[in-house]
Amino acid sequence: MSLYIEQIRQLVALQHVDDGIHAVQLELENSPKEVKELERRFQAQDAQRDLILEKIQHLQEQQKRLDAGIENDESRLSSSQDKLMQAENSREYNAGIRELESMERQSRDREEERAALKVERASQEENLRSMEADWSELKNELESQRQNLEQRLAASQKKLQELEEERSGVSTGIPSPVLRRYEFIRNRLRHPVIVPVEDGVCTGCHIAIPPQVFIDLQRGTQILSCPNCQRLIYWAHHFQDTAASQEQEAAAE
Ligand SMILES: [Zn+2]
Repeated sequence: MSLYIEQIRQLVALQHVDDGIHAVQLELENSPKEVKELERRFQAQDAQRDLILEKIQHLQEQQKRLDAGIENDESRLSSSQDKLMQAENSREYNAGIRELESMERQSRDREEERAALKVERASQEENLRSMEADWSELKNELESQRQNLEQRLAASQKKLQELEEERSGVSTGIPSPVLRRYEFIRNRLRHPVIVPVEDGVCTGCHIAIPPQVFIDLQRGTQILSCPNCQRLIYWAHHFQDTAASQEQEAAAE
């Protein structure tokens, strides 16, 4: 194997480790987002539930106030009736009747209000019941996802550490100017760093390689970059990335 091909092989091997690191970093970045989204959904539902609970509490207080009023009405009504019985002349009698009528009207109003409150309370309690199952399901899911996230993050961190160790092993054989070039691209451009050129097209950016660059690439003497995306490139006929094609087959199955 020529030195050139050996360097390509080493860089592709390094790229595979970096593929793993990239995937773990994406997971570390995205996993908290999933939980945040769930949190947002739960908080919206929880706020809605709190609103209903608040309404129910308010209705209960109103009901208590009304009950007390009705009790008071009843005692006033009976004392007013007593007074009417003791009326000594028609003037007192008429006044007593008017008082009684006004009290009865007030008491009827209160009864009506109480009936309306009961209907409203029943409807709010029904609202609460209908959302309770969803609410507690979401709450449980959020709790388990939070726990799960911690475990996943810890596992990802561990994997990342292992990959970093593997990475330093894989990169030891690579000549330092080549490795520096690789690291420069890795730190500044998008993943991946080194890609094959297939049918004259860079598989990193999917743009055709200019003819002169393609001729140089086929010569296989020095490591070239794609003029469009700046990634390191190699000719697919020079080197077959068997690990990548195995991964593709596994993914296709
Ligand atoms: Zn490219």
